[in-house]
Amino acid sequence: MNIAANSLEHHWMPFTANRAFKSDPRLVVKSEGVHLWDHRGGQLLDGSSGLFCVAAGHGRTEIADAVHAQLQTNDYMSPFASGTPGSFELARKLAAILPEGIDHVFFVNSGSEAVDTALKVAMAYNRARGEGQRIRFVSRERAYHGVNIGGVSLSGMVKNRETFPVVMPNVVLMRHTWSPNERFVRGQPEGGAELAEDLQRMIDAYGASTIGACIVEPIAGSTGILVPPKGYLERLREICDTYGILLIFDEVICGFGRTGKAFASQSFGVTPDIMTMAKALTNGAQPMGAVAVSDKVYDTIVDAAPENAIEFFHGYTYSGHPAACAAGIATLDIYENEKLFERAAALSDYFLDKMFELQDIDLITDIRGYGLLAGIDLAPGAAPGLRGSEVQTRLFWNGLHVKFTGDCGIIAPPLVAERSHVDEICSIIRKTLEETG
Ligand code: PLP
Repeated sequence: MNIAANSLEHHWMPFTANRAFKSDPRLVVKSEGVHLWDHRGGQLLDGSSGLFCVAAGHGRTEIADAVHAQLQTNDYMSPFASGTPGSFELARKLAAILPEGIDHVFFVNSGSEAVDTALKVAMAYNRARGEGQRIRFVSRERAYHGVNIGGVSLSGMVKNRETFPVVMPNVVLMRHTWSPNERFVRGQPEGGAELAEDLQRMIDAYGASTIGACIVEPIAGSTGILVPPKGYLERLREICDTYGILLIFDEVICGFGRTGKAFASQSFGVTPDIMTMAKALTNGAQPMGAVAVSDKVYDTIVDAAPENAIEFFHGYTYSGHPAACAAGIATLDIYENEKLFERAAALSDYFLDKMFELQDIDLITDIRGYGLLAGIDLAPGAAPGLRGSEVQTRLFWNGLHVKFTGDCGIIAPPLVAERSHVDEICSIIRKTLEETG
């Protein structure tokens, strides 16, 4: 496929160096299974499941057929005070795989909307129980919670917030969990309980009665895969319980088998009060996110409103869109029928073995990993992020798509990947870094 010199100009691309990309475009024109094809006809392995979405592999006809059938039968109806059957069915199926006691699901259209919705749920819950003064949120350095104003306010990644000074003022950040002493540690590093005491310090500094919720990604994803240190999530849960603070897990990347169970909450054995999800919810085939909440949170908000009154003044025109619900139902069926979460768990050891074999490469300064997720840090070039984007481009032309964040490559193959695909990912990374170094 030929691309005319000026034909890309009108699309302002998200999170992209537009000028560099448009002078050397990398378009994907076809996808199937774990493979992609670029506009010059080259074949690539999808080493990051698109953007952590395509857990069941590309080109799933079951999902395409379900969306097609849904759009032909009933394309749209207002989700406010009316409904379509698919959203109820999808919520029911989600409740079956969510941790026990998290049984109520609010639909949105993205991870960012899920995060902002979760903040509103926390505010509504605290207000409904007569604790409306709990206006503060505790987040974390290096956190990524999407790009809406709520999520940016929670962000601990400087580039995502320094341009946007008008954010919620009532957010405080705990330390991130990366330690230079715990480099090249596979799975959970040490020292979690001590780091989680940061939440206690926030309570001591600001007063528990002012804090509404603490939000963390169980594995911090977009910053480069920071696996929670041992005891960390457990201690956060304990502190939240002691002081009546809601615990929110942002599972937008971790959810749907990435950690070897349906959700990271189950892999780490810690149940939050509120969970956000998106991405692999529809295998990336339709935009969709969701917020799942505990029975306690749902009942408190709903029961506080008078009979026949709207209980939660929030929702989107496309909340629970019929086509997205059809995609979600078909996706969850695939996960179940093909036992993809179990498959991810079974492949994890091999995947992590291979990832950690790369540590002899000079350019690599750290590797972290859990489940089918790994972060590979590269020594920075002339400025932070330059090496990452150079390597990302080289990997692409060498036949591998990898999502980069700064100088960290994030490897997250589709859960349907075979061992041979893992081998191929590693050999392309090795070859590319040798060429670069
Ligand atoms: N939360 C987390 C943990 C994420 O990783 C992301 C995206 O990567 C988001 C929220 C935002 O999701 P979206 O890009 O669908 O808005």
